Amino acid sequence: MNNIPLKYQPQIKQLVNKAYARGFVKGQKSMRREIIEFRCNKCHNLQDQDDKQSNENWAVFKTNEKCKCGGKYVLFVNGKEL
Ligand SMILES: [Zn+2]
Repeated sequence: MNNIPLKYQPQIKQLVNKAYARGFVKGQKSMRREIIEFRCNKCHNLQDQDDKQSNENWAVFKTNEKCKCGGKYVLFVNGKEL
């Protein structure tokens, strides 16, 4: 089940760290298996990563991109909205 990119841009990493700090995501830090997705906060549509900036090692998402329905893309960790 490893479709998780190796690295994220620093601001996303920070958000994920926050999620762990709040107990949002269960499990030990060293055993992290988080599924990180950006989804629309209205229709839950998955945001595509930025193909120009992403590569095999980095998944880059445009943070100010809007969904077609007008919703905002927000971070989902393990299926839960952060
Ligand atoms: Zn939407």
